[in-house]
Amino acid sequence: MPVHDALTPRLLFTDLDGSLLDPHCPDGSPARPWLARLKQHGVPVIPVTCRTRSELAPLRLALGLADTPFIAENGAVVGLPPAWCHARLDRRPGPDGLVVKTLGVDIGFIRKRLSVWRQRLGADFTLMSEIALEELSVVAGLEEGEARLARMREGSEPLLWHGDDAQLEALREGLAGDGLSLLRGERFWHVTGQADKGRAVDWLLSRFEALRGRRPHTLALGDGPNDVGMLEAVDQAVVIRNRHGLTVEPAQPALYRTVATGAAGWVEGVAHWWGRADSRLIPRAAADSRRHAAVSAKMPVMASAEMPV
Ligand SMILES: [Mg+2]
Repeated sequence: MPVHDALTPRLLFTDLDGSLLDPHCPDGSPARPWLARLKQHGVPVIPVTCRTRSELAPLRLALGLADTPFIAENGAVVGLPPAWCHARLDRRPGPDGLVVKTLGVDIGFIRKRLSVWRQRLGADFTLMSEIALEELSVVAGLEEGEARLARMREGSEPLLWHGDDAQLEALREGLAGDGLSLLRGERFWHVTGQADKGRAVDWLLSRFEALRGRRPHTLALGDGPNDVGMLEAVDQAVVIRNRHGLTVEPAQPALYRTVATGAAGWVEGVAHWWGRADSRLIPRAAADSRRHAAVSAKMPVMASAEMPV
């Protein structure tokens, strides 16, 4: 049964890499009709990513998400556009019109503690900030300009791990004593304060309730272990089939796993939850092709028939 009605505001939280964006569609083109439709219905699509605020800035513009909040650096950094700011709680916005909150700890503290543990444990890792730009662009599959933006950290530090599992556990324990966590990403491990995607989503939901006086109906989509907290913090969730082979097991009863990977999986997941519940949200192009497919197959219209391949 639906936990919402047509008047309940909705929020969509989404991972970017491997989810809304993938190596085959780095511009998110398969998702564009859905993004346009959601925008038309006033549903904010909120990127929740391991990327930095600097990396995210051009992407938000390109995806038409300049008016929605964002969560960067795996939950360590939250950006609020004017409509999401609270007159009493927020300082004045920066030159880009955004108020930026750091929910974790300062990047300087993280780097200091990592250098202590490297010496004490002989831990074998390379910080992203220690990798030369040309090398980083190869390791992370980024253009050199993008790699420069990726190094502009505000609340978390990615590292490449070279040691074994036992050493990694020792590092994890040491960092935990400092109030720091180690999160697994696709290529890097990420060291953050007590911040993760789930806590940042909770924080934004509290902000939404403080401003609007009601709890929204929420959906989240992600493909990696660092998305688990976010997938557990919402009403309905989608695990997008991934190519990296890492398991993603959120404790979430309303969970859908996609057949398709990347952006096609993203479209499949949104259609699964919201296309079925509210046909007004289905983009016109997808709805037309769905109707056509249903007529030619002489079958009733089903949301799943509009899945792209
Ligand atoms: Mg991902």
